[in-house]
Amino acid sequence: MKNDCVFCAIAAGEIPCFKVYEDDIVLAYLDINPFTSGHTLVIPKGHFTGLLDTPPEVLKEVVVRVQKVAAHLKTALPCDGFNVLQNNGAAAGQTVPHLHFHIVPRNGAGEGGGISFAGRKGDMDSLKALAERIRM
Ligand code: AMP
Ligand code: ZN
Repeated sequence: MKNDCVFCAIAAGEIPCFKVYEDDIVLAYLDINPFTSGHTLVIPKGHFTGLLDTPPEVLKEVVVRVQKVAAHLKTALPCDGFNVLQNNGAAAGQTVPHLHFHIVPRNGAGEGGGISFAGRKGDMDSLKALAERIRM
């Protein structure tokens, strides 16, 4: 647990939340600023800031819970579909530096506006060169 972390405080029961699911690995609760009704956050109980510092064995367990909670929301709400989002770093819009997955329920075609990256058509030569430069 990290002292000044709001999500650690929620996991420890020191700050209340609207709980959806809990087990020994994760806690899932409603986002207090929901993008859509049922917008839920899934967090590991341990403190990790994001995707890159979470040990793979923990991450696997968390992602399986994301699947479990999403499957539940789909029938319990219900919803037609859902987005799973996970922000890393302030540049990506992360405001709480404790790993969390957003599950955003969606209904119909694009309820509440799409979640879109507003991409522009790529230049094939640039894409090819970039892939060659960064290929693992
Ligand atoms: P992110 O921008 O990915 O870091 O998302 C952080 C999310 O946490 C935001 O959607 C907030 O609305 C949500 N949030 C912040 N504090 C709380 C809280 N105490 N309980 C529930 N959700 C919270
Ligand atoms: Zn934390």
